[in-house]
Amino acid sequence: MVSYKDLGLVNTREMFKKAVAGGYAIPAFNFNNMEQLQAIIQAAAETKSPVILQVSKGARNYANSTLLRYMAEGAVAYAKELGWKNPQICLHLDHGDSFELCKDCVDMGFSSVMIDASSLPYEENIALSKKVADYAHQYDVTVEAELGVLAGVEDEVAAEESHYTRPEEVIDFATRTGCDSLAISVGTSHGAYKFKPEQCTVDPETGKLVPPPLAFDVLHEIEKKLPGFPIVLHGSSSVPQEYVDMCNKYGGNLPNAIGIPEEQLREAAKSAVCKINIDSDSRLAMTGAIRKHLAENPGHFDPRQYLKPAREEMKKMYMHKIINVLGSDGKAE
Ligand SMILES: [Zn+2]
Repeated sequence: MVSYKDLGLVNTREMFKKAVAGGYAIPAFNFNNMEQLQAIIQAAAETKSPVILQVSKGARNYANSTLLRYMAEGAVAYAKELGWKNPQICLHLDHGDSFELCKDCVDMGFSSVMIDASSLPYEENIALSKKVADYAHQYDVTVEAELGVLAGVEDEVAAEESHYTRPEEVIDFATRTGCDSLAISVGTSHGAYKFKPEQCTVDPETGKLVPPPLAFDVLHEIEKKLPGFPIVLHGSSSVPQEYVDMCNKYGGNLPNAIGIPEEQLREAAKSAVCKINIDSDSRLAMTGAIRKHLAENPGHFDPRQYLKPAREEMKKMYMHKIINVLGSDGKAE
């Protein structure tokens, strides 16, 4: 048993409380390799933004969970070395799908876990989420649970159809599970292909596809039912056109990749939404930069040569999200 407190990590309780009160959101960035982690920590340290490092089941399988945990521990020391006196870094399990997986993460030093039982019937979702919350709370680890279904594909989480969270269920769900935050479905979606072109309208001026807006009415209803309760948005990459273009220009094939417009995320961040998950944008920035570098430098074969610009591109993207979309800069001096 390792406590996250001994690793210099923090849970989400304080950061969410401040974010809800302050009208901003905490970035939750997924990582599964060193360059991504360096870029996240550099961006957070430079902007003094609290940050949530997310590890998915897929990342655990890819990189090894023990190694990822040590990397997060190293990230705290690295942040201090970069001059961030009081780093507010949370290590969070993304989409835990069983009690055993969540327990394993609590026991190995995660400061927060998500139990995603949203695909189960309502009562089973409550029972499993409560079991995880009861276990995690003994160690002061915070728990995110989910109600409603997001469409899209992300690592091992996939659903064809979404259905919005039902506001009439949220009080009962939050009370009976004891969860610390609630992931909801209001129109965001996993992956880089969040919408089919036929779901979008065409901007007459630019000719670009405009996705359907988020269901702010549902979000506001949920907020009214649970005043001040931390709400989480998954699947909130904006799929920047410049990275899609960069990938496609240098040999990629990502037709009709569509994300959530940043104006909508900015609006959501001002509400009770206090955690916004971003993964695909980092993948796109990294792949675009690598493709570009290798296309322009066909003789390069040292991975550092193409991973360095990829890391810089990711850092730029993370800083942009923190400062211009979530508003979490300067919130963790
Ligand atoms: Zn997710």
